[in-house]
Amino acid sequence: MSAMAESPQDRASWLREELQRHERLYYQEAKPEITDREFDRLMAELAAIEEEHPELRTADSPTQRVGGEPTEGFEQVEHQPPMLSLDNTYDHDELEEWVGRLERLLPDTEIDFVCELKVDGVSLSLLYEDGVLAEAATRGNGRVGDLVTANARTIRSLPLRLPAGAPARLRVRGEVFIPRGAFRKLNEEREAAGEELYANPRNTTAGTIRLLDSRDTARRPLEITCYELVQQPGAGERVSHADGLKTLSRLGLPVSQGWRRCESLSEVVAFCDDWQEKRGELDFEIDGVVVKVDDPELRDRLGATAKAPRWAVAFKFAAEQAVTVVRAISPQVGRTGAVTPVAELEPVLVAGTTVRRATLHNYEDLRDKDIRVGDTVLIEKGGDIIPKVVKVVETRGDRRSQRSKPPENCPVCGEKLSKPEEEALWRCVNAACPAVVRESIRHFASRNAMDIEGLGNWLVGELVEGGLAKNVADLYSLTESQLAGLEKTTTVGEELATKLAVGIKGVPAGSNLGDAIRSLDIQGLGPKKVEMLTQTFDTVGKLRAASLGELAKATLSTAKLGERSAAKILHSLEQSKQPALARLIYALGLRHVGERTATLLAHRFPSIEDLASASTEALEEIDEIGSRIAESVQAFFDSASNQDLLARLEKAGLRPKQETRSAQEEGPLKDRVFVLTGTLDGMTRNEATARITALGGKVTGSVSGRTDFLVAGEKAGSKLRKAEQLGVEVLDEAGLAELLSGGR
Ligand code: AMP
Ligand code: ZN
Repeated sequence: MSAMAESPQDRASWLREELQRHERLYYQEAKPEITDREFDRLMAELAAIEEEHPELRTADSPTQRVGGEPTEGFEQVEHQPPMLSLDNTYDHDELEEWVGRLERLLPDTEIDFVCELKVDGVSLSLLYEDGVLAEAATRGNGRVGDLVTANARTIRSLPLRLPAGAPARLRVRGEVFIPRGAFRKLNEEREAAGEELYANPRNTTAGTIRLLDSRDTARRPLEITCYELVQQPGAGERVSHADGLKTLSRLGLPVSQGWRRCESLSEVVAFCDDWQEKRGELDFEIDGVVVKVDDPELRDRLGATAKAPRWAVAFKFAAEQAVTVVRAISPQVGRTGAVTPVAELEPVLVAGTTVRRATLHNYEDLRDKDIRVGDTVLIEKGGDIIPKVVKVVETRGDRRSQRSKPPENCPVCGEKLSKPEEEALWRCVNAACPAVVRESIRHFASRNAMDIEGLGNWLVGELVEGGLAKNVADLYSLTESQLAGLEKTTTVGEELATKLAVGIKGVPAGSNLGDAIRSLDIQGLGPKKVEMLTQTFDTVGKLRAASLGELAKATLSTAKLGERSAAKILHSLEQSKQPALARLIYALGLRHVGERTATLLAHRFPSIEDLASASTEALEEIDEIGSRIAESVQAFFDSASNQDLLARLEKAGLRPKQETRSAQEEGPLKDRVFVLTGTLDGMTRNEATARITALGGKVTGSVSGRTDFLVAGEKAGSKLRKAEQLGVEVLDEAGLAELLSGGR
């Protein structure tokens, strides 16, 4: 520090530089020069100066990482170019097919690739203006995302300012994630605090980057890896992808580790196999490899479908497996009343997540695989699906336990279960069954449905149990006073119970119970919890006498839902009142109607009323929708209690937004009906469908008098004959391409 009196301005800028340098040393070079404590002191000093002289605060100040005032919702930004998804390949053959297709599309061209790790996180689009991080946005629906700049600033490895010489405008894409180790620690802390555990790093990341208060985001250990320097065609000279990655590294951005330029399919395959093998060595989760064309000109020539670029593909790793022991098999009642067996497992780590339960589909499956308590089983986790039991790898010899049979009555409400002949599932048909109600409400509130923040599993359970919510419409009449004061109880749980039971054995019977528990020094048992336990058990003797089961069920802590949280939940309920129509359809939980089907329905029917009165023909006219879904939709809307539910939702102010159908309404192919048949050469049928619908056209499954065009690829069969009979215009692939490019 200089001896002369330093101006606050000089001091602030010195501090900023210094903090940035230490951050770089710490996060990017892993060579810290000062302790965390000293770092915090410098930070506090800078914050104090900025507090006193707000005019000295800059957007790139390290203090801004800590986050400002909570914001209401997020602003939206449009992505230019859109943030597309990636097509997937699952084995060498599919990878080879992909490369083969590129070679067909680009005859006589050398194609080089870059292979990168596919980090399993959440993508983020970043914009640096004049070297300063100006914007960060989530992928959202690919075209429009949430502006989460304040949250992105809390990512420590992300520079807020680039070194001198950085381009005036730099667009970068990357993946935000939580490393495995940090995730484990986060969950340990939550466990110790008696809070619900996070399911996996990716979901936690997704939730964290969208937190409304960036101070909360700052507390979570987010990291980022950058994988794309965005170069718009026509915007000056462009570099190869590999050079783009090098530029990003040079600018101090954390770049995807381990990437490699590959000149042939065999090199690409070797890279994929190598990392499939080594994935466990990384401190973050990867679910595959991304293979990209290196040359920007070739990328332009290949272009993109509505869903994904043609110049990149994901190679997805096979699901991760692990071996563990079945402790119990218990029946679980789902949203549709279906009762399925669930295996309670000896906890085991699979792909960085602790797995304690796995599904067994149904009781027939359970019988076929002959899985019994005590067996050692192979479990598998793929994508975000709940882990499943694949098979028994070892039994307990001849002393095997009994087979588990489906219960005769619902384990929750006691109603006799029924099973239609043709189905494999036993069901509780009691619509008021608390388990069914609870699961439907959870589904309704979940992120991909109505996305009601704060309405977590615990709270929903509490609302259902307390009779405050008997269906989803009841949610909208909740009041603050009903919510505030709800009490959350955490119990000791099996793991702590075991530790306690073992530890307490070695303690003299006459000792003070509180001192005795403290002396065991068990992680997760803070002073308040020790006190709670002493109140419950009173003496060392009584604690010893308790069974493991009693111990596990003992209360460890209670917490009330505060007024602020209650208000927040009411606010998110209020905000959920204008969902996209597709979300609402999905949220209502019609049998066989998943997200994709819900979107298809919402595209075809502009309102719930239209959908409710849709004829079987109108429903089945939609490609991909058959009689099973059509029946389910009609059965749902025919039910008096569902009609009542919808009326109540409407009365509560629920107004679904119509899909943005501008393209459909104004596109050049508006009202034109297409049928596709045979194999197309240059695009898959899905791609063709996407391109036709993007221009406002409609693609249906069968040829009728209303069909305008039949697109016939190779090996076209009966549909072609029918079209010829009906005099429908037939297009070959070139004809379709011409139509799509606006040539006629
Ligand atoms: P998917 O969501 O399965 O269609 O895969 C596309 C997503 O993969 C992108 O949106 C990114 O979030 C993610 N991703 C992870 N690593 C990369 C990478 N190296 N290059 C491109 N995308 C990546
Ligand atoms: Zn029931």
